[in-house]
Amino acid sequence: MHPKPSVMDFHLDTLLNLPHATVDQCDQDQNGIILTLGLLNEAANSPHCGTASDEVNQRRSVMIRDLSVFGQATHLKVPRRQVYCRPGQQYFTEWLPDIDLGRPYTRRYEADVYHPVQVSTIEQVSRAEGLTYDRVEGVFKHQDALKKKRTGLRSIAEKGFQ
Ligand SMILES: [Zn+2]
Repeated sequence: MHPKPSVMDFHLDTLLNLPHATVDQCDQDQNGIILTLGLLNEAANSPHCGTASDEVNQRRSVMIRDLSVFGQATHLKVPRRQVYCRPGQQYFTEWLPDIDLGRPYTRRYEADVYHPVQVSTIEQVSRAEGLTYDRVEGVFKHQDALKKKRTGLRSIAEKGFQ
């Protein structure tokens, strides 16, 4: 396969700036750039009890939209490992911290879509990003809900000081 570690991979990993992730492959087609990621951590921690396990039961991957690179739409092919937790006797799916569970975008991409919507329109952002109106609206609503949740927590904390 790929000779590793190469100098190029090192630079791509640094540019990617996601913990535990390495760029295994870089492809380009008419839709843009696809970076196939590998995970550097062998074990994953069970979300239920925190036990570290490297008993991988199943490997699949999902396509996640990330920030554009050199003006080209960029997708990450992210490994999703199903891991067995022996003490808990159940399987769990490992998930990267920079991607909200079940979302097809990285957090930084969602933030990048969210901010311009506030100063322009959903139509303009949808054209610029090549996303449908509904998708941009979905990102906006998701980010807006997260922001409200954070603001709410902050105002509760501020009230606590009074
Ligand atoms: Zn567990």
